[in-house]
Amino acid sequence: MDSAANNRSQANLAVRPLLEAGMDLILAGIPVLPCHWPVEAGQTADGWRRLGCSCGRADCPTPARHLVGGMRTSDATTDAVLVAQWWTGGLHDANVVTVAGLVFGVVELRYSAPSADIRAWLAAFQVAPGPVLDAGIGRTQFLTAVGPADPSFAPIGSTGAVHRLGHRAIVLLPPSRLTDRHQVTWLQGPHGVSLPDSEQLFAALARLPEPHDLAAWAQGRADVA
Ligand SMILES: [Zn+2]
Repeated sequence: MDSAANNRSQANLAVRPLLEAGMDLILAGIPVLPCHWPVEAGQTADGWRRLGCSCGRADCPTPARHLVGGMRTSDATTDAVLVAQWWTGGLHDANVVTVAGLVFGVVELRYSAPSADIRAWLAAFQVAPGPVLDAGIGRTQFLTAVGPADPSFAPIGSTGAVHRLGHRAIVLLPPSRLTDRHQVTWLQGPHGVSLPDSEQLFAALARLPEPHDLAAWAQGRADVA
């Protein structure tokens, strides 16, 4: 490859991950939409570079987590031409989202524990998780079969919670980035795993104990084994 071609391919690489992710998702039948993304937003007093939302609002309530102006959740599509136009047009850096309730439901867990312990807990309730997203610090999202349209919420102990997103909630998919520099990643799947029942998964997660009690429970099982 000559150096000009090399430079060109490097330039393309910078914009490709989001376009490629969008294309992979629509090939899997998952409708997608572009969403706002993190942008440089000056420096803090102690010299750290801050990230803000590409919408430009300093007080954006959902930075890098809301649809680009003029788009609605009903615009989510599996049309490859449209998706290519969005991410090769003015939206190179746009985060990739889908919409809960279209092809899967989403149960979000806010709870700090090793994923192996949570997996063991679910197995004790005969629930096998399907695709799982690391959706930010302390936030894990389990994709499920499409469940009830209304959201549902249950606290876990004193600090955690499980939240079933309502239909039409937007869901960031990899490799979307957040303004805390976290990147959404797949912890499991999305291919090769089936979608669990939404209500069974929600019920099992809602019964999680305080994290230190889960650790003791998991340790007890390891000792027996
Ligand atoms: Zn914003």
